[in-house]
Amino acid sequence: MNKKSSTILIILGILLFFLIGTISSILRTINITEKDAMTINNVGSIRGSSQRLVKLELSQTRSSDLIEEIDEKIMNFEVIAKNPKSPNVELSEAYDYLLSTWADLKAAIYAFRQNPSEENRQTMIEISEKIWNHANATVLETQLYSEYKFDNFRKVLPFLAIDFILIILLILMIKRFVRDELEIAVNYDPLTKIHNRNFYYESLKRETIRAQRYGKPFVLIIFDIDHFKNVNDTYGHDVGDIVLKELSRLCGYNVRKSDILARIGGEEFSVLAPETDITSGIVLAEKFLNIVNSHEFEKVKHITISIGVAQYVAGDSLDDVFKRADIALYKAKNNGRNRVEVEV
Ligand code: GH3
Ligand code: MG
Ligand code: MG
Repeated sequence: MNKKSSTILIILGILLFFLIGTISSILRTINITEKDAMTINNVGSIRGSSQRLVKLELSQTRSSDLIEEIDEKIMNFEVIAKNPKSPNVELSEAYDYLLSTWADLKAAIYAFRQNPSEENRQTMIEISEKIWNHANATVLETQLYSEYKFDNFRKVLPFLAIDFILIILLILMIKRFVRDELEIAVNYDPLTKIHNRNFYYESLKRETIRAQRYGKPFVLIIFDIDHFKNVNDTYGHDVGDIVLKELSRLCGYNVRKSDILARIGGEEFSVLAPETDITSGIVLAEKFLNIVNSHEFEKVKHITISIGVAQYVAGDSLDDVFKRADIALYKAKNNGRNRVEVEV
């Protein structure tokens, strides 16, 4: 894995980490807010109904339906307050108190029905006050606590911003990564990592146009490994590949930045040297010849190359200059290999 793809993976990891944190925090807040809203609703409703109940009982109207309704509401509140998934001590205590006070109120109501004395009347009103006050306090507390929790939630916002920035960064990096990979696939040879025939041909086209327009000379050097078939036959194709890679690296070190070194065939390479005349071209070719001659290749030890050199001359087409370099290479092979030949 190269450096770029590992960077993308690292950013992706950080993004996932932040995203999971932010999303779980949002979900938790939604859950808590829902529960708080239910509590406020429920307790508020118990508060109102018990007040109405006492008012009706005081006017001698028996309303057993309403008592059942409040029983049901208290049961609903139990589900919220005693939820084992989100334990809450205060809410659980509030429920316990409400439940016992509600039992007291019911007892007081039945006593008042039996005997509507002043004392029983007072007891009923007092207990109903207790429920009112307690329910009020529970609603208020839940509200305050909910607001506090929501304030806390605001702390998540910067993390949301980080998520957003990381996503943008990731998209840009992936875009760049894909573009770079495409460029490499289109312009480079996968085995030797030097330019491929496609890039070489486009560069040659451009250089020919420049030469035709501005009269700037350039030189083409084509070289081919001698008896490479023997290398493959003797040592195997894999070793042949290693030789191709080693040779490419060796030549790559010895060309200028403006020169284009490319693999244009199986074991055939070329250097396009812009703004170079034939004399300098021959010097460069001789340099290659000597470097390859004196290099000890892995396993194979010694190989030689044959080199053809040609210079662009006014009026040449792309094919003309390439053909001349190829003829020069052919001459080098015919004249005994491991040599440089020029075609003018
Ligand atoms: P000459 O001196 O005339 O160039 O002889 P040669 O054996 O090098 O020439 P020939 O064209 O007969 O054989 C070239 C060989 O290069 C044949 C082919 O198997 C080998 N070759 C081409 N591409 C690759 C490659 O990518 N890897 C390996 N290992 N061998 C390759
Ligand atoms: Mg060959
Ligand atoms: Mg060949």
